[in-house]
Amino acid sequence: MYLSDYHIHSNFSGDSVEDLENIIKRAKELELKEIAITDHMDLDTGSIYDSNFILDLNKYIPKLLELKERERKNIDIKIGMEFGIQSHLGMEAEKIIKNHPFDFVISSIHSINKILIDQKEYWRDKTKEEGQEKYFLEVLKCIKSYDTFSIQGHLDFISRYGGEGKKGFIDYTKYDDIIDEILKELIDKGKGIEINTSGIRYLENRFYPCNSLVKRYFDLGGEIITIGSDSHKSIDICKNFSEVYDFLESINVKYISSFEKMKIEFKKFR
Ligand SMILES: [Zn+2]
Ligand SMILES: [Zn+2]
Repeated sequence: MYLSDYHIHSNFSGDSVEDLENIIKRAKELELKEIAITDHMDLDTGSIYDSNFILDLNKYIPKLLELKERERKNIDIKIGMEFGIQSHLGMEAEKIIKNHPFDFVISSIHSINKILIDQKEYWRDKTKEEGQEKYFLEVLKCIKSYDTFSIQGHLDFISRYGGEGKKGFIDYTKYDDIIDEILKELIDKGKGIEINTSGIRYLENRFYPCNSLVKRYFDLGGEIITIGSDSHKSIDICKNFSEVYDFLESINVKYISSFEKMKIEFKKFR
């Protein structure tokens, strides 16, 4: 069994208090082969969260390089980042990613036009469908805006937000065309998607993205997939991963992806 968790937050992220040492300890207990630490870098969110979510790379990178070297014989630690992309930030993102020794970068949409999508302000003038459509259109715009990321994060997690009575459901038939365009663009660019298991913890009873979307990615010719817990506490590392492996096997996928210095390698997981 080749276990790796490619979406983990530490206390370098504004919304996590977890110590890197606890994360490494837990990952070793679970006998993971690899972990990617992927702390938040969200620029230009125009809110109170702004400074909390700007990653201090001058401290973060040296710390991870030190731990990567120290643990080399025990576990493969990947230097990652979850970049909160917005369509006007493509060039800035490229610059940051190229100038640091990242192994792996998740491209996630958390904000649109400088407004966080978990805020009432985003949903104020929109129906659920309008908010969801705008989000998917923005995903497409963002992945066209730069090239240096590794995978698209939690592709359909917009269902998590939207205020009272608007959460938890997406009628995918409304967005089939946009989603196909997103997946084709990712495939053309040699980019992957993740299966993010936090959807279960947020009581959505599914992963992000939903299984049919993952299957569609492979049907269209995609091959690059990582699995991430999106843990903000070490106890959540690798949660619900066996269900993911079972699902991947059921659609005849045998390999997950591993990244080192942004280069992909495929690992047979069972
Ligand atoms: Zn995220
Ligand atoms: Zn995350």
